[in-house]
Amino acid sequence: MKLSNRINSVSASQSVTLAQKVIELRQSGKKVIGFNVGEPDFDTPPEVLAATNHALYQGETRYGPINGIEKLRAKLVHKINRDQSLKVEPAQISVAQGSKQVLYNIFQLLCQQGDEVIVPCPYWVSFPEMVKLSGATPVFAYSKDSFFDLEKIKTLITEKTKAIIINSPNNPTGMMISNQEIEELIKLARKHQFYIISDEAYEGLLYDGREFQSPAALFDKNFDVSISVQSFSKTFCMTGFRLGYIIANKEIIQAFNKLQSHLSGNVTPFIQFGAMAALDSEEKIKTNMREIFQKRRDLAHQKLATFVDCLLPHGAFYLFPKVTSLYSTSIKNDIELAEYILDKAHVAVLPGSFFGYPDHLRICFSTSEEEIIQGLEQIRSVL
Ligand code: PLP
Repeated sequence: MKLSNRINSVSASQSVTLAQKVIELRQSGKKVIGFNVGEPDFDTPPEVLAATNHALYQGETRYGPINGIEKLRAKLVHKINRDQSLKVEPAQISVAQGSKQVLYNIFQLLCQQGDEVIVPCPYWVSFPEMVKLSGATPVFAYSKDSFFDLEKIKTLITEKTKAIIINSPNNPTGMMISNQEIEELIKLARKHQFYIISDEAYEGLLYDGREFQSPAALFDKNFDVSISVQSFSKTFCMTGFRLGYIIANKEIIQAFNKLQSHLSGNVTPFIQFGAMAALDSEEKIKTNMREIFQKRRDLAHQKLATFVDCLLPHGAFYLFPKVTSLYSTSIKNDIELAEYILDKAHVAVLPGSFFGYPDHLRICFSTSEEEIIQGLEQIRSVL
């Protein structure tokens, strides 16, 4: 029997196919170094585990409020207002199963057939597919000289533009969009009446003393055109908890809650207690991770720079070098290069083409320093 056109329009995750190949190689006895998986290798903080466990045994195992437990939303309000000098209210926040689900919901409630969503390249792999699932069309802003090209974006704005999705620090580049570019984007959004959906999954992982800047906090204090999407996954090493949240104007949040009431209903209550403990220890958890990741970034960048050009990432845990200098008669593009590196060096990396930006590789440095040194040396030696 036929499946829906909607699901047939969506591509399966290519990185999952590669991850499967890594599993097979490992099962055949090969030691594969994984620079492919985008999650911190740290354990979930013990205070988070203890609070989750406690809540579980306290009976926090029933249905809960659709938009999240009130105490958690109050802590989030405190965090947002403190970090971004904003004045959000609890009614401007709602939680869902990971920022992935938050994003999916946002496209569902904003978009329909005939709408367009601008997706700057390179992009996180799920953005275009989520847009397609809403019925809208992703419009790619690709510029071969820049990872974020405002001039290119301007040429793509039409009366069909419903939103643009930005992600800073970015997966896969680790680079940030400047405040000036964000300000210009807000002016454009106000003028042409579209939303800026800001995926802030890596807001806690910034290096060299950089401060996070949400569009919402940059002369856009009413959330008139901006929607922020945050996650507990990366900053607090809680990827498996599946907890993310939206900050937006009340109209958007009401629509979000209506949708959630027919989807998961509510986020698992006991994990929300884990999240409250994470927020209570936020500075400690973040500082520790940031320091270790900055050291790894410097190490990985220094090793990589011995054989290929790469920008120094501002945040997140990815390097995104341009790799055309590594092509040969038998390796003609980034996909073939990633396959070659996996087969010969037993190191898993992802081709930039998966992220809508060919001729690059994404190298994730969320592994130990020993693995970073060994993995990059193995790559260098087979090239
Ligand atoms: N947004 C970006 C840019 C990501 O890289 C990821 C995960 O890799 C997500 C969202 C999803 O995170 P979550 O675990 O909160 O669903």
